[in-house]
Amino acid sequence: MDDLASRLADVDARIADAARAAGREATGITRIVVTKFHPAALVADLYRLGVRDVGENRQQELTTKTAQSSALAGLRWHFIGQAQTKKARAIRAAASVVHSVDRNRLADALDRAGDDGSVLDVLLQVNLTDDPDRGGVAPAGLEALAEHILEGCPTLRVRGVMAVAPLDEPPASAFERLAGYAQRLRAAVPGADWISAGMTADFAEAIAAGATHLRIGSAITGARPTHI
Ligand SMILES: *Cc1c(COP(=O)(O)O)cnc(C)c1O
Repeated sequence: MDDLASRLADVDARIADAARAAGREATGITRIVVTKFHPAALVADLYRLGVRDVGENRQQELTTKTAQSSALAGLRWHFIGQAQTKKARAIRAAASVVHSVDRNRLADALDRAGDDGSVLDVLLQVNLTDDPDRGGVAPAGLEALAEHILEGCPTLRVRGVMAVAPLDEPPASAFERLAGYAQRLRAAVPGADWISAGMTADFAEAIAAGATHLRIGSAITGARPTHI
C-alpha cells in the first residue's frame, strides 16, 4: 500500500509537471488507473488513496471486478479494450465510459443495451497505425462513425477520441495526428472534446498533445501479473 501510494504520487507529480510544461491545468486531466490483471483488492486500495477512475480492457474482468467493488461509491469504470458486439450489454452494464467504439455495429449494440433510459459516454477509438488488428476506426472513417451514432444511437453520447500510440513511431508525432482527428470530430460533434491517450510510457507526450484522459497502468500498479 505504501509503494502503491508513492507510485501514485510520483505519477501525479509527473502529470503536473507535464501539464505545466504544456501550459495546461492538471485539473483538466483525468488520470485513469488501468487495473487489468490485478485483483479487486488493488482497486479497493486505490480507492482508499482517492482514485475514482479505473480502467479495464476485457469484459469478463470488468464484470467480475465491478461486482466485487460495488461497495466503492462513486467509482467510475472505463472500458478501454477491443469489444466484441455480443459483449456490449455486459460492458454497458458495468462501465461509465466506453473508450473503444470503432465501428457502427458495436455502437448499435451498445445503444440497444441502453434500454433503461441512461446515456452512455463513448469515445471513438482511432487507429493510428495501418494494421487493422490494432483496433480503432481508420482516420478516414471517423466522421462517418460519429454521424452514424448521432443519427442512430440516441443513448450514446460521443465525448471525443481515443488512441493507442503505434509501436514503431515516436508517440509525440502520433499524438499530434490524434489532436488533428480530435479537432475534426469536434467540427462534427460540438463539445466532443475528450482525448483519451497516454499510457505509462508516453503520458507526458500525450499531455503535450492535449490529452484529457490518461490511461496509466504499470507505472502506478507495478508489474502486471500474467493472469488473475
Ligand atoms: C493496458 C493498457 C493501458 C495501460 O498500459 P500501461 O503501459 O501499463 O500504462 C492503457 N491503454 C490500454 C488500451 C491498455 O490496454
